[in-house]
Amino acid sequence: MTTAPKPPASNDPTTIGHGPPTPSASDIPLAVLEKVNVGYESTVALQDVTLEVCQGEFIGIVGPSGSGKTTLLRALLGQVRRFSGHLDLFPRPGRDEVRVGYVPQVDMVDWNFPITVEQVVMLGRWREIGWRPWSSRRDKQLMHELLDRLSIGHLAKRHIRKLSGGQQQRTFLARALIGDPDLLLLDEPTSGVDIKTRHEVMHLLGELNRAGTTIIMTTHDLNAVATHLPRLICVGEGQVVADGSPQDILTPEVLRRTYGAEMLVMRRGRAIYVVEHLGDASEAVGAEVELFLETSSGAAVDHAEAGGDGS
Ligand code: ADP
Ligand code: MG
Repeated sequence: MTTAPKPPASNDPTTIGHGPPTPSASDIPLAVLEKVNVGYESTVALQDVTLEVCQGEFIGIVGPSGSGKTTLLRALLGQVRRFSGHLDLFPRPGRDEVRVGYVPQVDMVDWNFPITVEQVVMLGRWREIGWRPWSSRRDKQLMHELLDRLSIGHLAKRHIRKLSGGQQQRTFLARALIGDPDLLLLDEPTSGVDIKTRHEVMHLLGELNRAGTTIIMTTHDLNAVATHLPRLICVGEGQVVADGSPQDILTPEVLRRTYGAEMLVMRRGRAIYVVEHLGDASEAVGAEVELFLETSSGAAVDHAEAGGDGS
């Protein structure tokens, strides 16, 4: 009897991403949520969520604090109570489950917990290490390669409390990546880091996505992050308000329903800029409009949409 040739090993997490490069998002579903109601104890925090996530997508979730962004990530992780609805995850060929990597919001972490960078990262290799009380040479080699790739190799033995925000972010990114995830969920990865780190994090996520990893991240950063992503989900008061490309969905109406505040949306070609609408009193808004129109590159139509009179 002959055995079929094995597919090439693709679980080397130091190669950022996995499998062949995916030029763009596919239409192969990875996660499907249908009329999902989730929450905590007896409270529904997020209701009636219906959406499909396809392999290779890069999605941003935006909305005010308390709107349900983290709950949506945790629903995909299966870490919140599901009251009703269906949630299905579809593994890619050759895997019997969808591997989900999670990078928590930095202020949700107990920084006093006595643990070093390398110990945090090794926790992400629980599938391979299982209940064996030690990590193998291979585990350690992978970890070091990954830490070097994320430029924190020299910090392996450092306590996580003694790291900068960007280094903490990378440590948890390394923990997620060492499990070779199909789906990477990040909770506010650009909050609490400086601009350079934000650029580096977004660059790295772009690279991972181009290599095939599906990414969903929450962000408060509308202009610097969200408007640059291919797909956005706006969450307001526990409901999905809009879902689509920033060009299609970022309107004053959607932003009002998401944030409960008046916003001004400026467009120049495909570039979008959102500012708080402060009414006639705002010279600052005028200055921002000028700056945006001067600095954004691109096309023909320049216009600002105002959110009406706020009623
Ligand atoms: P966001 O991430 O958009 O700030 P969350 O998803 O954290 O919002 O919270 C959505 C709602 O769920 C809020 O009303 C919040 O108070 C509530 N909530 C979040 N975590 C818990 C929890 N562990 N127990 C009870 N309620 C929670
Ligand atoms: Mg949150």
